[in-house]
Amino acid sequence: MKKENKQISKNISKKEFENLLVSSGLIHIFKGAKGIIWKPYGLAMMNRYMCFLRKLIPKFSIEEYFFPLLVDKRYLDKLNNEIYNFDKGVYKTVDTVLRPSGEISIYPVFKDIIKSVSDLPLKVFQISSSFRYGYKAGIFRTNEVDFFVEGHTAHASREEVEMQVKDNDLLINQVLVYFGLPVIKTERPLWTNKPVAEKSYGYDAILPNGETLLVASNYEQMQVFSKVFNVGFIDKYKQYTNTFQSSFGFSFRPLMILLWQLCDQHGLRLLPSLAPIKVSIIEINPDNDINVASLIDNIKQKLQNLNINFIHDNNSKLSLSKRSSKYELQGVPIRIEIGKKEIDSGFIKLMRRDNFLFEESSLDNFNNVVNKLLNNIEADLRASLQNIFLDFQVYTGSSLDIINILKKNKVAKFSICFNRSCIDGLQASVGLGEVLGTSEQVNNGKCIVCKKNTKYIGWYSRRV
Ligand SMILES: [Zn+2]
Repeated sequence: MKKENKQISKNISKKEFENLLVSSGLIHIFKGAKGIIWKPYGLAMMNRYMCFLRKLIPKFSIEEYFFPLLVDKRYLDKLNNEIYNFDKGVYKTVDTVLRPSGEISIYPVFKDIIKSVSDLPLKVFQISSSFRYGYKAGIFRTNEVDFFVEGHTAHASREEVEMQVKDNDLLINQVLVYFGLPVIKTERPLWTNKPVAEKSYGYDAILPNGETLLVASNYEQMQVFSKVFNVGFIDKYKQYTNTFQSSFGFSFRPLMILLWQLCDQHGLRLLPSLAPIKVSIIEINPDNDINVASLIDNIKQKLQNLNINFIHDNNSKLSLSKRSSKYELQGVPIRIEIGKKEIDSGFIKLMRRDNFLFEESSLDNFNNVVNKLLNNIEADLRASLQNIFLDFQVYTGSSLDIINILKKNKVAKFSICFNRSCIDGLQASVGLGEVLGTSEQVNNGKCIVCKKNTKYIGWYSRRV
């Protein structure tokens, strides 16, 4: 394979990435709006993601519901008084609030629907928005969390919830595989006075600037919320029992992180599996040569038969370089330029957006080459995501080292006990950043704090 004469720099700041999302036509940012304005190219990717979710989640026997955005204020008051103060940034009137999170709109309905054990399990999800005032406007946090996906399940026993949490984990993993996005999966320390769950699992991605961002959560709530909202049922012993519950959630963040991880100074680089347009065909035909037009028709037909989305650009008023850089900016995985040269040589050049390598193909072999290239681009980009992820993590046995690792914009990884004194102790000694949580390992190590043997690994990062 040969390569176009182009340098690739992947050192893109958050601001540059935001500008790229705008210039490539995914989104519009308008100061008068408190959230992101999605444009057709960006929505094409988001809608595809939504379709994927609407197919995936019901496979786990979790069904889609729609709950209203406006909620009776007394449910927020209940939450504030009995679990945790969720009041900050909530939009409210005298008797109504704009939903800050799903619990207050969903659990009162659970109470209404669930009467006896035969109504269980109840497993619902919804794709909707939540609202909190006071977040800085930005691509990862806005006042309105668009496209938030949340699942809530109610069961008759603790054991069922434990199984469900494993199922939720499988579901979240499939979402992350869809994006090819590797994450640090940890159990969160929950040592506040009134925890929102018995166990909580976080899925954090590492951003190109070394910060981490939560992309999904999975909660083994058990009866924490069902006791507050009086969700319960008459069990087989004719006793009233509160339901045992789980919940999970994720948003559009995985897509944003993926796009930032993959972009370079020329623009986006899209996974073919997510790209709304997989191939751009640029027609170079100032003399309206009928042979060029018929070769293009032939290729379009082949792409149609292969079910590969393409765009045909015959706007010869613009220079070739302007036209090709537009598709580079948009991250279209393959570009084909067709003009008189291709008629004369009998070969078609297929250019890869991800690494600017190109391959020449005869018309007969076109189907094989285009399929092979799309597969290779997909595999190479996914592998690069894994490599970036591993490169960011630095293992250390010394807490002093953690500060240096964080200052180098990396994430520290270490052995630690899953207990309050070691985790809080480490956090106090490091000062900046945060312990994400821990994960169980096969091999024992020595705790970075107390030096005792432990089977847990912890991660320390600067969080967005
Ligand atoms: Zn320890």
